[in-house]
Amino acid sequence: MSAALEKTYDGIIIGAGHHGLVLGSYLAKSGLDILLVDRRLKYGGGLCTEEATLPGFYHNLHSINHFHISETPWFHDLRLGERVDYITPRYEFGQPHLDGTALVFGRDLEETLANVARFSKKDAQTFREWNAKAEEITRDIFLPERFSEPLPREEREKLLSRTQAGRDFLEMTLRQPLDVVQELFENEHVKLLFLFKVSLFGTWLVDTMSKTSPMGSVIRAFDLQSGYQLCKGGSFNLARGLMETFIAAGGRFQPQVAIDKIMIEGGKATGIVTAEGKTVRARKFVASTLDVHQTFENLIGRSQLPKAFCEKLDNFKYTSWSLFGLHLALDEAPHMSAASFDPNVNRAMKWSLGAETMEDLFSAFADVNAGRAPKIVQFGSGPLTVLDPSQAPPGKHTTYCWHVMPLNPDLEGKSYEDFKEEFAEKIIETFARYAPNVSGKNILGKHVYTGREYVAELVNMRGGDIFMGAFNAEQVMYNHFGYRTPVPGLYMAGSAAHPGGAISGGSGYISAGIIAQDVGAKLWWKPWNAREALSA
Ligand SMILES: Cc1cc2nc3c(=O)[nH]c(=O)nc-3n(C[C@H](O)[C@H](O)[C@H](O)COP(=O)(O)OP(=O)(O)OC[C@H]3O[C@@H](n4cnc5c(N)ncnc54)[C@H](O)[C@@H]3O)c2cc1C
Repeated sequence: MSAALEKTYDGIIIGAGHHGLVLGSYLAKSGLDILLVDRRLKYGGGLCTEEATLPGFYHNLHSINHFHISETPWFHDLRLGERVDYITPRYEFGQPHLDGTALVFGRDLEETLANVARFSKKDAQTFREWNAKAEEITRDIFLPERFSEPLPREEREKLLSRTQAGRDFLEMTLRQPLDVVQELFENEHVKLLFLFKVSLFGTWLVDTMSKTSPMGSVIRAFDLQSGYQLCKGGSFNLARGLMETFIAAGGRFQPQVAIDKIMIEGGKATGIVTAEGKTVRARKFVASTLDVHQTFENLIGRSQLPKAFCEKLDNFKYTSWSLFGLHLALDEAPHMSAASFDPNVNRAMKWSLGAETMEDLFSAFADVNAGRAPKIVQFGSGPLTVLDPSQAPPGKHTTYCWHVMPLNPDLEGKSYEDFKEEFAEKIIETFARYAPNVSGKNILGKHVYTGREYVAELVNMRGGDIFMGAFNAEQVMYNHFGYRTPVPGLYMAGSAAHPGGAISGGSGYISAGIIAQDVGAKLWWKPWNAREALSA
């Protein structure tokens, strides 16, 4: 038995993904005695970088594209810039086409508009108008709300109605992203790239596409200033920097802890009990960064929860797709045929490959919903080592392909291993139609990593849901699962709470402020506050 489990702590945090690490770092720096536990030997959760193909080729098996991380409040407060480097690519989205053209979005507005104008002058003008609005809304509303406890709906709408930008934003939140893109643009390639951009990670994000969007993610289709970044050396380096911060602040990490239950005594969360029957007590709080079902059904039990809360749990929705990942070690970087049209396509951080029309995109949506592997192969990818050479041996390269896929696709009688092998070949064939050198001897190694593998490792990603909760209108902003729970002393600090899944750190950051205030710990930072931001 580890000595770490022999003590009593001020607080215990379950799950050493980035949310648990952000929360732990803030509270340890507040002077609280914190134990962070994980089921696995590894820490970092979805921040995972491994030499999965050949020595020296670092593959990010989970998250890769990190949104605006170096500008988050927690990156600044925790002075992570001293431990972790982020690369901000000049070109963010690239969409090569089989007709030899390519559309590239960068950070520079005029350059991006000129690129769009090569496809449609009208669409470039529309983008210019929407971009001006979007940059203001992102800066003044979207980002402050992302890192603040959501306001009640009525109060939020009242505050937003005070300004023109707020009113524009509110109007956008009531519209379907797909309709917005369809209505605004005339060129098929332009529409396609906007949809790829708004579908968050380039996956076909069913929830985002088919419902209203109280969070306002539609607006992100039109801004250019805040965008995706790459963690230098591999995504795990963010976890490393956070763990160093947590430990330096006096936190204690214990891996390989199998938790049987969250201890409730006198109606209050007072610790954890391990599968071996060991109780570790927390004087002030227990925080879970796991999915809601593990937390409440497995570790607490329905009989200890109010009926209305159990109904909320039963109605909680996960996304219905997973990701089929293919990771390649390459001798030379992918070279797009369309680079003769726009050379910058070779160094755009996120490529959309395979879908040529919106119809193609819809077919993947239909196939995944029907439990089939998509017939039209289409995926997200990117030239990671062109942007960050440190992720491969000198002169060599890596790339990845993420394909949307049901967790348990109809295998048509094949074994899963054969299916994986065949589908990976289909992806490579499609890749080579755009970048002919992604073939033959240029491929030095490959590693297939699908939903089935990541669900086995990260058991919290239920049903293959990488976000641990769908981003539908009923579960975001004022409807999110909540940080406080019906059990006093127990907090939710992970992806089910606003702003939801993905590498944002938001929920860990916001819950740190809430817990510190509830337990009377030192607030050594000023938590962001949506009321203040929207009242300004
Ligand atoms: C293939 C893939 C690609 C992705 N790409 C991106 C991307 O490009 N950009 C992006 O922003 N996001 C991406 N994501 C999503 C992102 O990784 C997650 O949304 C993010 O990791 C959530 O962080 P978290 O801290 O809430 O949970 P996690 O990172 O999942 O961490 C949870 C931790 O809890 C631990 N745990 C689980 N169960 C228990 C238990 N019973 N007891 C103790 N510990 C437990 C786990 O081992 C894990 O360490 C991707 C995910 C996958 C799988």
